[in-house]
Amino acid sequence: MIMPKHFFLETFGCQMNVVDSEQIVDLLRGMDYAPADRPEDADLILLNTCAIRDKAERKVYGHLGRYKPLKAVRPGLILGVGGCVAQQQGEKLLKDIPYLDLVFGTHNIHRLPDLLRDVEIRHRRGHALEFHDRETRLRLFPQRSGGEAVTRFVTVTQGCDNFCSYCVVPLVRGREISRPSGEILDEIRQLAASGVREVTLIGQNVNSYGVGVPGELSFARLLAEVEGIDDIVRIRFTTSHPKDLSDELIDCFGSLKKLCNHIHLPVQSGSDRILRLMNRGYTREQYLDRVRRLRRVRPEIRLSSDIIVGFPGESEEDFADTLSLTEEVNYVDIYSFIYSPRSGTAAVKLEDSLTAGERQARFDRLLKIQEDISRQWRERDAGAILEVLVEGESRQGQGQLFGRTTWNRIVNFAGPRDLIGSLVPVHITQVYRNSHLGCLVTDQAPSHG
Ligand code: SF4
Repeated sequence: MIMPKHFFLETFGCQMNVVDSEQIVDLLRGMDYAPADRPEDADLILLNTCAIRDKAERKVYGHLGRYKPLKAVRPGLILGVGGCVAQQQGEKLLKDIPYLDLVFGTHNIHRLPDLLRDVEIRHRRGHALEFHDRETRLRLFPQRSGGEAVTRFVTVTQGCDNFCSYCVVPLVRGREISRPSGEILDEIRQLAASGVREVTLIGQNVNSYGVGVPGELSFARLLAEVEGIDDIVRIRFTTSHPKDLSDELIDCFGSLKKLCNHIHLPVQSGSDRILRLMNRGYTREQYLDRVRRLRRVRPEIRLSSDIIVGFPGESEEDFADTLSLTEEVNYVDIYSFIYSPRSGTAAVKLEDSLTAGERQARFDRLLKIQEDISRQWRERDAGAILEVLVEGESRQGQGQLFGRTTWNRIVNFAGPRDLIGSLVPVHITQVYRNSHLGCLVTDQAPSHG
């Protein structure tokens, strides 16, 4: 009897990596690999990596170090690295880590089966790191299936042309391409037919979809087409660049009912001087104007953001601008990061006199302000009846389901399994930092959502 082979896959970073990992799993299943719960039980361990911050990159080396003893006990264990660190470090990873078997970059996930066979049959370590041209990348877009899922990410753009001065994405993911709208809509129709109810259209810079592609739909038109697909009840998209948030797209929040009441709109800094140094392509006032317009067409919209603290040359005054913008926008959540220099980016050449202590102190001040604002948003939900899309059984325990509100907030509540995939009203009884707890309402419509 042939024993099944097992894989253990760790995914770091953003939604793009989550989608790439789904493709990796599909390829591995096609090679008769089954998932393992623990690395100790795996014949193949893969890391799908993120290079956005130095910390994320060091984490990869740390994890590889942890797997070294496993490899020493079982030399047949295959160890591989994919994703953005693989793309950036390339063959250096194979040189630095003698027990690593394979490395594949962001344009080469499809080469994984060949690389694996080389290791399994010929005991040959290998790598696939080349960047492909636009036509090849469009041809290699995988068509995704829904499986058992209620919500799915659907990739609409890949790569980025913006070259924000701190960011490695254009270097490790390549230039932006937009996938043909016909293909995207076919995929969403198939997902809907297999039970998916919510789609999140994703791309590094999702709202520049179609720009510069003759005859292609605008992003707003693409959303309108998705709205027309029966059985899809909710639509989200991420990540949006403020400079590409057109009036046409803002108007979608007025006209498309399936579009959720949430947008992630990374501002990065509240200071015009720092925004210029970051090469973000908008001013503080232009950003605030977009926010005001969004709220005009969809008053119940909630915004979240990314903010970088301690960008090279950030003065106390610049940082005060970030704090005041944070308060003015009144974000429901922010994802704030201390600036991390990334090699190959323009920002590493900027003069930088900030100490680690100064950066940390500013970071703590921002978090404190935001924590207060986020708490107020959470408390608004307490006692309300909110519409929840039920996604599955909760990790909280037996008989508990979980789902999300239109604002992307997780809600746990007791209910029967056959509600999975439905929109249901839930009375919010407790609000916690990361999720809400509620009770299913059987005789009332939601008051919000
Ligand atoms: S928009 Fe800027 S921050 Fe976002 S992926 Fe592109 S270069 Fe990076």
